[in-house]
Amino acid sequence: WAQDGTIKSPYKNIEIPNCTLYEYVWQNLDKWPERTASVCALTGRGYTYEQAFKLSNTFAASLRNKFKLRDGDTVAVMLPNIPDFPLVALGILEAGGVISTINPIYTPHEIQRQLILSEAKAVVTICETANKVKEAIKLAKLNIPIIAVKTNGESVPQGIVSFHELTEDMHVDKSCLKEVRRSIDDICFLPYSSGTTGLPKGVELSSKNLIANCEQINEPFIKCHSDTTGTHQDAVMTVLPLFHIYGASVLMFHKMSQGIKLVTMPKFQPETFFDALEKYKTNILFAAPPLVIMMATHPAGSPEKFQYLETIVNGAAPLSETDAERFFTKSKRKLDFRQGYGLTETSPVVTLTPRGMDNYGCVGYPIPNTNLKIVNNEMKTLGANEKGELLVKGPQVMRGYKDNAAADKETFTEDGWFRTGDLAIADHMGIITISDRLKELIKEKGFQVPPAELEAVLREHPDVNEAAVIGVPHPTKGESPKAFIVLKSNANTSAKEISEFVEKKVAPYKRIDEITFIDSIPKSSAGKILRRELKDKFC
Ligand code: AMP
Repeated sequence: WAQDGTIKSPYKNIEIPNCTLYEYVWQNLDKWPERTASVCALTGRGYTYEQAFKLSNTFAASLRNKFKLRDGDTVAVMLPNIPDFPLVALGILEAGGVISTINPIYTPHEIQRQLILSEAKAVVTICETANKVKEAIKLAKLNIPIIAVKTNGESVPQGIVSFHELTEDMHVDKSCLKEVRRSIDDICFLPYSSGTTGLPKGVELSSKNLIANCEQINEPFIKCHSDTTGTHQDAVMTVLPLFHIYGASVLMFHKMSQGIKLVTMPKFQPETFFDALEKYKTNILFAAPPLVIMMATHPAGSPEKFQYLETIVNGAAPLSETDAERFFTKSKRKLDFRQGYGLTETSPVVTLTPRGMDNYGCVGYPIPNTNLKIVNNEMKTLGANEKGELLVKGPQVMRGYKDNAAADKETFTEDGWFRTGDLAIADHMGIITISDRLKELIKEKGFQVPPAELEAVLREHPDVNEAAVIGVPHPTKGESPKAFIVLKSNANTSAKEISEFVEKKVAPYKRIDEITFIDSIPKSSAGKILRRELKDKFC
Protein backbone atom coordinates (compact mmCIF):
# COMPACT_ATOMS: atom_id res chain seq x y z
CA TRP A 1 0.00 0.00 0.00
CA ALA A 2 1.32 3.44 -0.91
CA GLN A 3 0.46 6.55 1.14
CA ASP A 4 -2.14 7.68 -1.41
CA GLY A 5 -4.03 4.38 -1.24
CA THR A 6 -2.46 2.84 -4.37
CA ILE A 7 -1.86 -0.90 -4.09
CA LYS A 8 1.49 -1.45 -5.75
CA SER A 9 2.75 -4.71 -7.15
CA PRO A 10 5.08 -6.38 -4.63
CA TYR A 11 7.26 -7.57 -7.53
CA LYS A 12 10.16 -5.80 -9.19
CA ASN A 13 9.25 -3.91 -12.38
CA ILE A 14 10.03 -5.74 -15.61
CA GLU A 15 11.27 -4.33 -18.93
CA ILE A 16 8.99 -4.58 -21.93
CA PRO A 17 10.91 -5.57 -25.09
CA ASN A 18 10.54 -2.97 -27.84
CA CYS A 19 9.19 -5.02 -30.76
CA THR A 20 5.92 -6.08 -32.35
CA LEU A 21 3.95 -9.05 -31.03
CA TYR A 22 4.85 -10.97 -34.18
CA GLU A 23 8.59 -10.45 -33.57
CA TYR A 24 8.17 -11.26 -29.88
CA VAL A 25 6.47 -14.63 -30.47
CA TRP A 26 9.08 -15.78 -33.00
CA GLN A 27 12.16 -14.29 -31.30
CA ASN A 28 13.47 -17.68 -30.10
CA LEU A 29 12.42 -19.80 -33.06
CA ASP A 30 15.99 -20.95 -33.74
CA LYS A 31 16.09 -22.58 -30.29
CA TRP A 32 13.23 -24.99 -31.02
CA PRO A 33 12.41 -25.32 -34.76
CA GLU A 34 11.76 -29.08 -34.54
CA ARG A 35 9.50 -28.93 -31.52
CA THR A 36 5.75 -29.27 -31.84
CA ALA A 37 4.05 -25.89 -31.81
CA SER A 38 0.46 -27.16 -31.89
CA VAL A 39 -1.20 -30.55 -32.07
CA CYS A 40 -4.86 -31.54 -32.15
CA ALA A 41 -5.80 -33.78 -29.21
CA LEU A 42 -8.51 -35.43 -31.33
CA THR A 43 -6.71 -36.16 -34.60
CA GLY A 44 -2.98 -35.78 -33.84
CA ARG A 45 -2.73 -33.26 -36.72
CA GLY A 46 -0.19 -30.54 -35.94
CA TYR A 47 2.82 -28.41 -36.82
CA THR A 48 6.38 -27.98 -35.63
CA TYR A 49 7.52 -24.45 -34.83
CA GLU A 50 9.41 -24.25 -38.12
CA GLN A 51 6.41 -25.44 -40.14
CA ALA A 52 4.12 -23.00 -38.34
CA PHE A 53 6.54 -20.16 -39.06
CA LYS A 54 6.92 -20.97 -42.77
CA LEU A 55 3.25 -21.61 -43.46
CA SER A 56 2.09 -18.49 -41.64
CA ASN A 57 4.71 -16.50 -43.55
CA THR A 58 3.25 -17.67 -46.88
CA PHE A 59 -0.25 -16.91 -45.59
CA ALA A 60 0.91 -13.38 -44.67
CA ALA A 61 2.25 -12.80 -48.19
CA SER A 62 -1.04 -14.09 -49.68
CA LEU A 63 -3.05 -11.74 -47.48
CA ARG A 64 -1.12 -8.75 -48.83
CA ASN A 65 -0.82 -9.91 -52.43
CA LYS A 66 -4.14 -11.57 -53.13
CA PHE A 67 -6.43 -9.79 -50.68
CA LYS A 68 -4.65 -6.42 -50.66
CA LEU A 69 -4.44 -6.34 -46.89
CA ARG A 70 -2.67 -3.20 -45.67
CA ASP A 71 -1.14 -2.11 -42.36
CA GLY A 72 -3.80 -1.83 -39.68
CA ASP A 73 -6.54 -3.67 -41.64
CA THR A 74 -8.68 -6.06 -39.62
CA VAL A 75 -9.11 -9.75 -40.39
CA ALA A 76 -11.89 -11.53 -38.50
CA VAL A 77 -10.91 -14.96 -37.16
CA MET A 78 -13.77 -17.31 -36.34
CA LEU A 79 -12.09 -20.58 -35.45
CA PRO A 80 -12.39 -23.25 -32.80
CA ASN A 81 -9.17 -24.42 -31.09
CA ILE A 82 -7.47 -26.09 -34.04
CA PRO A 83 -3.69 -26.44 -34.52
CA ASP A 84 -3.89 -23.98 -37.44
CA PHE A 85 -5.15 -21.15 -35.19
CA PRO A 86 -1.62 -19.80 -34.41
CA LEU A 87 -0.68 -19.95 -38.12
CA VAL A 88 -3.69 -17.82 -39.00
CA ALA A 89 -3.14 -15.36 -36.14
CA LEU A 90 0.60 -14.93 -36.69
CA GLY A 91 0.14 -14.69 -40.47
CA ILE A 92 -2.28 -11.78 -40.00
CA LEU A 93 0.19 -10.06 -37.66
CA GLU A 94 3.08 -10.55 -40.09
CA ALA A 95 0.96 -9.05 -42.86
CA GLY A 96 0.54 -5.94 -40.68
CA GLY A 97 -3.09 -6.77 -39.91
CA VAL A 98 -5.24 -6.72 -36.78
CA ILE A 99 -6.86 -9.93 -35.51
CA SER A 100 -10.49 -9.70 -34.42
CA THR A 101 -11.66 -12.98 -32.95
CA ILE A 102 -15.25 -14.22 -33.09
CA ASN A 103 -16.80 -17.12 -31.19
CA PRO A 104 -17.51 -19.85 -33.81
CA ILE A 105 -20.85 -20.67 -32.20
CA TYR A 106 -22.12 -17.15 -32.86
CA THR A 107 -25.19 -16.80 -35.06
CA PRO A 108 -25.05 -14.82 -38.35
CA HIS A 109 -26.87 -12.03 -36.49
CA GLU A 110 -24.04 -11.78 -33.93
CA ILE A 111 -21.24 -12.24 -36.50
CA GLN A 112 -22.46 -9.52 -38.85
CA ARG A 113 -22.38 -6.90 -36.10
CA GLN A 114 -18.72 -7.58 -35.34
CA LEU A 115 -17.79 -7.67 -39.04
CA ILE A 116 -19.27 -4.22 -39.51
CA LEU A 117 -17.87 -2.69 -36.33
CA SER A 118 -14.38 -4.11 -36.76
CA GLU A 119 -14.32 -3.11 -40.47
CA ALA A 120 -13.11 -6.60 -41.32
CA LYS A 121 -11.44 -6.96 -44.72
CA ALA A 122 -11.59 -10.79 -44.71
CA VAL A 123 -12.82 -13.63 -42.50
CA VAL A 124 -10.95 -16.83 -41.67
CA THR A 125 -13.10 -19.73 -40.51
CA ILE A 126 -13.42 -23.52 -40.90
CA CYS A 127 -15.31 -25.19 -43.76
CA GLU A 128 -18.07 -26.26 -41.34
CA THR A 129 -18.98 -22.65 -40.49
CA ALA A 130 -18.17 -21.02 -43.85
CA ASN A 131 -21.82 -20.88 -44.92
CA LYS A 132 -22.80 -19.23 -41.65
CA VAL A 133 -20.17 -16.56 -42.31
CA LYS A 134 -21.55 -16.17 -45.85
CA GLU A 135 -24.98 -15.47 -44.38
CA ALA A 136 -23.49 -12.93 -41.94
CA ILE A 137 -21.65 -11.14 -44.74
CA LYS A 138 -24.92 -10.95 -46.66
CA LEU A 139 -26.75 -9.57 -43.61
CA ALA A 140 -23.98 -6.99 -43.16
CA LYS A 141 -24.19 -6.09 -46.87
CA LEU A 142 -20.44 -6.52 -47.19
CA ASN A 143 -18.33 -7.94 -49.95
CA ILE A 144 -15.32 -9.54 -48.27
CA PRO A 145 -13.56 -12.84 -48.88
CA ILE A 146 -13.92 -15.94 -46.70
CA ILE A 147 -10.88 -18.12 -46.15
CA ALA A 148 -11.63 -21.59 -44.80
CA VAL A 149 -9.38 -24.03 -42.94
CA LYS A 150 -9.97 -27.72 -43.66
CA THR A 151 -9.93 -29.73 -40.46
CA ASN A 152 -10.71 -33.19 -41.76
CA GLY A 153 -9.97 -33.55 -45.46
CA GLU A 154 -13.35 -32.04 -46.40
CA SER A 155 -13.71 -29.98 -49.56
CA VAL A 156 -13.87 -26.21 -49.36
CA PRO A 157 -17.38 -24.88 -50.20
CA GLN A 158 -17.89 -22.99 -53.44
CA GLY A 159 -16.82 -19.37 -53.52
CA ILE A 160 -14.56 -19.80 -50.50
CA VAL A 161 -10.76 -19.69 -50.53
CA SER A 162 -8.81 -22.60 -49.09
CA PHE A 163 -6.42 -21.59 -46.31
CA HIS A 164 -4.20 -24.57 -47.13
CA GLU A 165 -3.88 -23.59 -50.76
CA LEU A 166 -2.76 -20.14 -49.65
CA THR A 167 -0.19 -21.47 -47.18
CA GLU A 168 1.22 -23.95 -49.68
CA ASP A 169 1.49 -21.53 -52.59
CA MET A 170 5.17 -21.73 -53.54
CA HIS A 171 4.90 -18.92 -56.07
CA VAL A 172 3.55 -16.15 -53.89
CA ASP A 173 5.77 -13.07 -53.97
CA LYS A 174 6.99 -12.38 -50.44
CA SER A 175 8.69 -9.07 -51.16
CA CYS A 176 5.43 -7.31 -50.20
CA LEU A 177 6.10 -8.22 -46.56
CA LYS A 178 9.02 -5.80 -46.58
CA GLU A 179 6.49 -2.97 -46.90
CA VAL A 180 4.88 -3.78 -43.54
CA ARG A 181 5.45 -1.01 -40.96
CA ARG A 182 4.11 -1.87 -37.54
CA SER A 183 5.37 -0.62 -34.20
CA ILE A 184 4.97 -1.75 -30.61
CA ASP A 185 2.21 0.83 -30.05
CA ASP A 186 0.08 -0.19 -33.02
CA ILE A 187 -3.15 -2.11 -32.42
CA CYS A 188 -2.78 -5.78 -33.34
CA PHE A 189 -5.64 -7.51 -31.54
CA LEU A 190 -9.29 -6.45 -31.45
CA PRO A 191 -11.47 -8.74 -29.31
CA TYR A 192 -15.01 -7.63 -28.39
CA SER A 193 -16.19 -7.02 -24.85
CA SER A 194 -19.18 -5.18 -23.42
CA GLY A 195 -17.06 -3.62 -20.66
CA THR A 196 -19.01 -2.06 -17.83
CA THR A 197 -22.16 -1.33 -19.80
CA GLY A 198 -23.88 -1.62 -23.17
CA LEU A 199 -23.17 -3.66 -26.28
CA PRO A 200 -19.88 -5.42 -27.17
CA LYS A 201 -17.18 -2.97 -28.20
CA GLY A 202 -13.84 -3.45 -29.95
CA VAL A 203 -11.04 -3.59 -27.37
CA GLU A 204 -7.93 -2.04 -28.92
CA LEU A 205 -4.90 -3.98 -27.74
CA SER A 206 -1.44 -3.04 -28.97
CA SER A 207 1.66 -5.21 -29.28
CA LYS A 208 2.91 -3.46 -26.16
CA ASN A 209 -0.20 -4.44 -24.17
CA LEU A 210 0.11 -8.10 -25.11
CA ILE A 211 3.90 -8.38 -24.84
CA ALA A 212 3.76 -6.67 -21.44
CA ASN A 213 1.23 -9.20 -20.22
CA CYS A 214 3.35 -12.12 -21.49
CA GLU A 215 6.38 -10.75 -19.63
CA GLN A 216 4.32 -9.98 -16.54
CA ILE A 217 3.28 -13.62 -16.10
CA ASN A 218 6.61 -15.18 -17.06
CA GLU A 219 8.78 -17.09 -14.67
CA PRO A 220 9.00 -16.87 -11.71
CA PHE A 221 5.25 -16.23 -11.57
CA ILE A 222 4.14 -19.24 -13.55
CA LYS A 223 6.43 -22.08 -14.48
CA CYS A 224 6.38 -22.16 -18.24
CA HIS A 225 9.51 -22.43 -20.27
CA SER A 226 10.97 -25.02 -22.52
CA ASP A 227 14.31 -26.45 -21.59
CA THR A 228 16.33 -25.54 -24.68
CA THR A 229 19.18 -27.93 -24.01
CA GLY A 230 17.42 -31.17 -23.02
CA THR A 231 14.55 -33.06 -24.58
CA HIS A 232 11.81 -31.86 -22.25
CA GLN A 233 9.15 -29.62 -23.71
CA ASP A 234 6.34 -28.21 -21.59
CA ALA A 235 2.85 -28.85 -22.92
CA VAL A 236 -0.21 -26.74 -22.27
CA MET A 237 -3.76 -28.01 -22.58
CA THR A 238 -5.44 -25.57 -24.94
CA VAL A 239 -9.04 -26.12 -24.11
CA LEU A 240 -10.01 -22.56 -23.19
CA PRO A 241 -11.08 -20.83 -26.38
CA LEU A 242 -8.32 -19.12 -28.34
CA PHE A 243 -10.87 -16.58 -29.57
CA HIS A 244 -11.14 -15.22 -26.00
CA ILE A 245 -8.33 -13.02 -24.71
CA TYR A 246 -7.47 -15.53 -21.96
CA GLY A 247 -6.74 -18.21 -24.59
CA ALA A 248 -5.18 -15.93 -27.20
CA SER A 249 -2.80 -14.09 -24.91
CA VAL A 250 -1.99 -16.50 -22.09
CA LEU A 251 -2.20 -19.75 -24.06
CA MET A 252 -1.18 -18.87 -27.59
CA PHE A 253 1.10 -15.81 -27.70
CA HIS A 254 2.75 -16.34 -24.33
CA LYS A 255 3.26 -20.09 -24.64
CA MET A 256 4.54 -19.90 -28.22
CA SER A 257 7.09 -17.27 -27.22
CA GLN A 258 8.35 -19.92 -24.78
CA GLY A 259 8.46 -22.82 -27.26
CA ILE A 260 5.70 -24.72 -25.47
CA LYS A 261 3.49 -27.35 -27.12
CA LEU A 262 -0.15 -26.34 -27.52
CA VAL A 263 -2.43 -29.38 -27.25
CA THR A 264 -5.56 -28.05 -28.92
CA MET A 265 -9.14 -29.27 -28.47
CA PRO A 266 -11.72 -28.02 -30.97
CA LYS A 267 -14.65 -29.57 -29.13
CA PHE A 268 -14.74 -30.43 -25.49
CA GLN A 269 -15.10 -34.17 -24.89
CA PRO A 270 -14.26 -35.22 -21.32
CA GLU A 271 -12.74 -38.62 -22.24
CA THR A 272 -10.51 -37.15 -24.97
CA PHE A 273 -9.52 -34.34 -22.63
CA PHE A 274 -8.42 -36.75 -19.86
CA ASP A 275 -6.62 -39.03 -22.34
CA ALA A 276 -4.79 -36.06 -23.90
CA LEU A 277 -3.64 -34.85 -20.48
CA GLU A 278 -1.81 -38.16 -20.08
CA LYS A 279 -0.83 -38.83 -23.72
CA TYR A 280 0.79 -35.44 -24.34
CA LYS A 281 2.26 -35.27 -20.82
CA THR A 282 0.43 -32.00 -20.32
CA ASN A 283 1.98 -30.21 -17.38
CA ILE A 284 0.27 -26.81 -17.59
CA LEU A 285 -3.46 -26.23 -17.57
CA PHE A 286 -5.26 -22.92 -17.74
CA ALA A 287 -8.82 -23.38 -16.64
CA ALA A 288 -12.08 -21.70 -15.75
CA PRO A 289 -14.27 -22.95 -12.88
CA PRO A 290 -16.55 -25.31 -14.91
CA LEU A 291 -13.46 -27.19 -16.13
CA VAL A 292 -11.95 -27.59 -12.65
CA ILE A 293 -15.34 -28.75 -11.33
CA MET A 294 -15.66 -31.24 -14.20
CA MET A 295 -12.15 -32.58 -13.52
CA ALA A 296 -13.04 -33.05 -9.86
CA THR A 297 -16.29 -34.87 -10.54
CA HIS A 298 -16.14 -36.71 -13.88
CA PRO A 299 -15.67 -40.50 -13.54
CA ALA A 300 -13.05 -40.55 -16.37
CA GLY A 301 -10.73 -38.29 -14.35
CA SER A 302 -8.15 -40.22 -12.28
CA PRO A 303 -4.75 -39.66 -10.63
CA GLU A 304 -3.09 -41.36 -13.68
CA LYS A 305 -4.66 -38.87 -16.07
CA PHE A 306 -3.42 -36.00 -13.93
CA GLN A 307 0.07 -37.47 -13.33
CA TYR A 308 2.01 -34.96 -15.47
CA LEU A 309 0.09 -31.89 -14.35
CA GLU A 310 2.24 -29.44 -12.41
CA THR A 311 0.47 -26.10 -12.69
CA ILE A 312 -3.21 -25.21 -12.87
CA VAL A 313 -4.27 -21.60 -13.22
CA ASN A 314 -7.93 -20.74 -12.71
CA GLY A 315 -9.33 -17.53 -14.11
CA ALA A 316 -12.31 -15.91 -15.87
CA ALA A 317 -14.64 -16.41 -12.89
CA PRO A 318 -14.30 -17.23 -9.19
CA LEU A 319 -13.63 -20.80 -8.07
CA SER A 320 -14.72 -21.82 -4.60
CA GLU A 321 -12.31 -23.34 -2.12
CA THR A 322 -14.51 -26.46 -1.91
CA ASP A 323 -14.20 -27.04 -5.65
CA ALA A 324 -10.41 -26.59 -5.57
CA GLU A 325 -10.18 -29.04 -2.65
CA ARG A 326 -12.40 -31.54 -4.45
CA PHE A 327 -9.98 -31.52 -7.34
CA PHE A 328 -6.96 -32.10 -5.07
CA THR A 329 -8.73 -35.03 -3.42
CA LYS A 330 -9.38 -36.53 -6.87
CA SER A 331 -5.84 -35.95 -8.19
CA LYS A 332 -4.33 -37.26 -4.93
CA ARG A 333 -1.62 -34.63 -5.40
CA LYS A 334 -1.19 -31.06 -4.37
CA LEU A 335 -0.39 -29.11 -7.53
CA ASP A 336 0.89 -25.59 -8.06
CA PHE A 337 -2.58 -24.07 -8.09
CA ARG A 338 -3.09 -20.41 -8.93
CA GLN A 339 -5.97 -18.06 -9.32
CA GLY A 340 -5.75 -15.17 -11.71
CA TYR A 341 -8.01 -12.24 -12.35
CA GLY A 342 -8.27 -10.14 -15.44
CA LEU A 343 -10.35 -8.78 -18.27
CA THR A 344 -10.31 -8.54 -22.05
CA GLU A 345 -9.47 -4.85 -21.59
CA THR A 346 -6.30 -5.73 -19.62
CA SER A 347 -4.76 -8.25 -22.06
CA PRO A 348 -5.99 -10.03 -19.69
CA VAL A 349 -4.00 -10.65 -16.45
CA VAL A 350 -4.13 -8.11 -13.60
CA THR A 351 -3.52 -10.22 -10.49
CA LEU A 352 -2.18 -13.68 -9.73
CA THR A 353 -1.74 -15.67 -6.56
CA PRO A 354 1.91 -16.48 -5.78
CA ARG A 355 3.21 -20.04 -5.65
CA GLY A 356 2.17 -21.81 -2.46
CA MET A 357 -0.67 -19.47 -1.54
CA ASP A 358 -3.43 -21.67 -0.16
CA ASN A 359 -6.07 -18.98 0.08
CA TYR A 360 -8.31 -20.01 -2.82
CA GLY A 361 -10.86 -17.28 -2.23
CA CYS A 362 -8.50 -14.51 -3.33
CA VAL A 363 -6.87 -13.62 -6.65
CA GLY A 364 -3.48 -12.63 -5.21
CA TYR A 365 -1.30 -9.59 -5.81
CA PRO A 366 -1.06 -7.20 -8.74
CA ILE A 367 1.46 -8.60 -11.25
CA PRO A 368 4.65 -6.57 -11.99
CA ASN A 369 4.28 -2.99 -13.33
CA THR A 370 0.64 -2.96 -12.17
CA ASN A 371 -0.97 -0.56 -9.72
CA LEU A 372 -4.47 -0.94 -8.30
CA LYS A 373 -6.85 1.26 -6.40
CA ILE A 374 -10.17 0.55 -4.72
CA VAL A 375 -12.70 3.40 -4.74
CA ASN A 376 -16.23 4.04 -3.47
CA ASN A 377 -19.04 5.29 -5.71
CA GLU A 378 -17.86 8.88 -5.27
CA MET A 379 -14.45 7.73 -6.59
CA LYS A 380 -12.86 8.31 -3.17
CA THR A 381 -9.90 5.98 -2.56
CA LEU A 382 -10.59 3.32 0.06
CA GLY A 383 -8.22 1.55 2.43
CA ALA A 384 -7.54 -2.03 3.54
CA ASN A 385 -10.57 -4.32 3.94
CA GLU A 386 -12.98 -1.78 2.43
CA LYS A 387 -15.08 -2.94 -0.49
CA GLY A 388 -15.22 -0.82 -3.65
CA GLU A 389 -14.64 -0.72 -7.38
CA LEU A 390 -11.25 -1.97 -8.54
CA LEU A 391 -9.22 0.38 -10.76
CA VAL A 392 -6.10 -0.62 -12.72
CA LYS A 393 -3.06 1.14 -14.15
CA GLY A 394 -0.44 -0.82 -16.07
CA PRO A 395 1.10 -1.46 -19.49
CA GLN A 396 -1.46 -4.20 -20.19
CA VAL A 397 -4.45 -1.82 -20.09
CA MET A 398 -6.05 -1.30 -23.53
CA ARG A 399 -5.69 1.94 -25.41
CA GLY A 400 -9.48 2.27 -25.57
CA TYR A 401 -12.58 1.05 -27.35
CA LYS A 402 -12.62 1.29 -31.15
CA ASP A 403 -14.48 4.38 -32.38
CA ASN A 404 -16.21 4.87 -29.06
CA ALA A 405 -15.04 7.96 -27.21
CA ALA A 406 -18.16 7.92 -25.03
CA ALA A 407 -17.36 4.44 -23.70
CA ASP A 408 -13.72 5.47 -23.14
CA LYS A 409 -14.87 8.42 -21.10
CA GLU A 410 -16.97 6.17 -18.86
CA THR A 411 -14.20 3.58 -18.57
CA PHE A 412 -11.17 5.72 -17.74
CA THR A 413 -10.95 8.21 -14.89
CA GLU A 414 -9.55 11.67 -15.62
CA ASP A 415 -6.18 10.63 -14.21
CA GLY A 416 -5.97 7.53 -16.41
CA TRP A 417 -7.20 4.70 -14.17
CA PHE A 418 -9.11 1.91 -15.92
CA ARG A 419 -12.43 1.10 -14.21
CA THR A 420 -12.97 -2.68 -14.06
CA GLY A 421 -16.60 -2.57 -12.92
CA ASP A 422 -15.71 -5.30 -10.40
CA LEU A 423 -16.08 -4.97 -6.64
CA ALA A 424 -12.98 -5.94 -4.71
CA ILE A 425 -11.40 -5.87 -1.26
CA ALA A 426 -7.67 -5.67 -0.54
CA ASP A 427 -6.30 -6.82 2.81
CA HIS A 428 -3.51 -4.97 4.63
CA MET A 429 -0.92 -6.93 2.57
CA GLY A 430 -2.53 -5.86 -0.71
CA ILE A 431 -4.00 -9.29 -1.47
CA ILE A 432 -7.08 -8.86 -3.65
CA THR A 433 -10.41 -10.64 -3.35
CA ILE A 434 -13.06 -10.09 -6.03
CA SER A 435 -16.35 -9.96 -4.20
CA ASP A 436 -19.00 -9.01 -6.74
CA ARG A 437 -19.64 -7.34 -10.07
CA LEU A 438 -20.78 -3.75 -10.14
CA LYS A 439 -21.17 -3.74 -13.92
CA GLU A 440 -24.21 -5.24 -15.61
CA LEU A 441 -22.26 -8.00 -17.39
CA ILE A 442 -23.43 -11.61 -16.88
CA LYS A 443 -20.83 -14.37 -17.15
CA GLU A 444 -22.11 -17.81 -18.05
CA LYS A 445 -19.39 -20.47 -17.76
CA GLY A 446 -16.82 -17.68 -18.12
CA PHE A 447 -18.39 -16.30 -21.35
CA GLN A 448 -19.71 -12.77 -21.62
CA VAL A 449 -23.47 -12.35 -21.84
CA PRO A 450 -24.07 -8.60 -22.17
CA PRO A 451 -27.62 -7.78 -20.93
CA ALA A 452 -27.87 -4.84 -23.37
CA GLU A 453 -27.36 -7.24 -26.29
CA LEU A 454 -30.20 -9.52 -25.16
CA GLU A 455 -32.43 -6.53 -24.43
CA ALA A 456 -31.87 -5.28 -28.00
CA VAL A 457 -32.82 -8.72 -29.39
CA LEU A 458 -35.92 -8.88 -27.15
CA ARG A 459 -37.04 -5.43 -28.32
CA GLU A 460 -36.94 -6.69 -31.91
CA HIS A 461 -39.87 -9.01 -31.04
CA PRO A 462 -43.09 -7.39 -32.32
CA ASP A 463 -44.95 -7.95 -29.01
CA VAL A 464 -42.25 -6.62 -26.69
CA ASN A 465 -42.52 -3.04 -25.52
CA GLU A 466 -39.62 -2.95 -23.05
CA ALA A 467 -37.10 -5.46 -21.72
CA ALA A 468 -34.48 -5.74 -18.99
CA VAL A 469 -32.04 -8.61 -18.43
CA ILE A 470 -30.14 -9.50 -15.27
CA GLY A 471 -27.90 -12.39 -14.21
CA VAL A 472 -29.13 -14.90 -11.66
CA PRO A 473 -26.98 -17.54 -9.91
CA HIS A 474 -27.01 -20.94 -11.59
CA PRO A 475 -25.68 -24.19 -10.04
CA THR A 476 -23.58 -25.33 -13.02
CA LYS A 477 -23.26 -22.28 -15.31
CA GLY A 478 -22.25 -19.81 -12.58
CA GLU A 479 -24.85 -17.30 -13.76
CA SER A 480 -27.61 -17.30 -16.35
CA PRO A 481 -29.71 -14.52 -17.89
CA LYS A 482 -33.23 -13.75 -16.66
CA ALA A 483 -35.45 -11.37 -18.63
CA PHE A 484 -38.19 -8.98 -17.48
CA ILE A 485 -40.56 -7.97 -20.22
CA VAL A 486 -43.27 -5.37 -20.60
CA LEU A 487 -45.57 -6.51 -23.41
CA LYS A 488 -47.39 -4.24 -25.84
CA SER A 489 -51.07 -3.74 -24.94
CA ASN A 490 -52.40 -5.89 -27.79
CA ALA A 491 -49.73 -8.60 -27.44
CA ASN A 492 -50.56 -12.22 -27.96
CA THR A 493 -47.46 -14.23 -27.12
CA SER A 494 -45.91 -16.48 -24.46
CA ALA A 495 -42.59 -16.72 -22.61
CA LYS A 496 -41.81 -19.88 -24.63
CA GLU A 497 -42.39 -18.14 -27.93
CA ILE A 498 -40.16 -15.20 -26.92
CA SER A 499 -37.40 -17.58 -25.76
CA GLU A 500 -37.49 -19.32 -29.13
CA PHE A 501 -37.32 -15.96 -30.91
CA VAL A 502 -34.14 -15.09 -28.96
CA GLU A 503 -32.67 -18.56 -29.51
CA LYS A 504 -32.52 -18.03 -33.27
CA LYS A 505 -30.46 -14.86 -32.90
CA VAL A 506 -27.90 -15.63 -30.21
CA ALA A 507 -25.26 -18.23 -29.36
CA PRO A 508 -26.56 -21.08 -27.14
CA TYR A 509 -24.91 -19.79 -23.96
CA LYS A 510 -26.83 -16.50 -24.24
CA ARG A 511 -30.25 -18.16 -24.36
CA ILE A 512 -32.82 -16.94 -21.88
CA ASP A 513 -34.37 -19.67 -19.73
CA GLU A 514 -36.39 -17.47 -17.41
CA ILE A 515 -38.81 -14.76 -18.47
CA THR A 516 -41.07 -12.74 -16.15
CA PHE A 517 -43.73 -10.38 -17.49
CA ILE A 518 -44.03 -7.14 -15.52
CA ASP A 519 -45.94 -3.86 -15.87
CA SER A 520 -42.97 -1.50 -16.02
CA ILE A 521 -39.17 -1.59 -15.94
CA PRO A 522 -37.66 0.45 -13.09
CA LYS A 523 -35.45 3.22 -14.50
CA SER A 524 -33.40 6.12 -13.21
CA SER A 525 -34.31 9.70 -14.15
CA ALA A 526 -31.66 9.44 -16.91
CA GLY A 527 -33.45 6.38 -18.32
CA LYS A 528 -30.93 3.78 -17.10
CA ILE A 529 -32.41 0.40 -16.18
CA LEU A 530 -32.22 -0.12 -12.40
CA ARG A 531 -31.09 -3.74 -12.49
CA ARG A 532 -30.30 -3.85 -8.78
CA GLU A 533 -33.95 -3.01 -8.05
CA LEU A 534 -35.11 -5.88 -10.26
CA LYS A 535 -32.68 -8.23 -8.51
CA ASP A 536 -33.84 -7.16 -5.04
CA LYS A 537 -37.52 -7.38 -5.93
CA PHE A 538 -37.69 -10.57 -7.98
CA CYS A 539 -34.67 -12.75 -7.14
P1 AMP B 1 -13.66 -11.05 -19.83
O1 AMP B 1 -13.40 -9.69 -20.34
O2 AMP B 1 -14.59 -11.84 -20.68
O3 AMP B 1 -12.38 -11.78 -19.54
O4 AMP B 1 -14.41 -10.88 -18.43
C1 AMP B 1 -13.81 -10.15 -17.40
C2 AMP B 1 -14.62 -10.28 -16.14
O5 AMP B 1 -14.62 -11.63 -15.68
C3 AMP B 1 -14.06 -9.49 -14.99
O6 AMP B 1 -14.40 -8.13 -15.05
C4 AMP B 1 -14.68 -10.20 -13.79
O7 AMP B 1 -16.00 -9.77 -13.59
C5 AMP B 1 -14.68 -11.65 -14.24
N1 AMP B 1 -13.51 -12.38 -13.72
C6 AMP B 1 -12.37 -12.68 -14.37
N2 AMP B 1 -11.54 -13.37 -13.57
C7 AMP B 1 -12.16 -13.53 -12.39
C8 AMP B 1 -11.82 -14.17 -11.16
N3 AMP B 1 -10.70 -14.84 -10.99
N4 AMP B 1 -12.71 -14.08 -10.15
C9 AMP B 1 -13.88 -13.42 -10.30
N5 AMP B 1 -14.27 -12.83 -11.44
C10 AMP B 1 -13.42 -12.88 -12.48
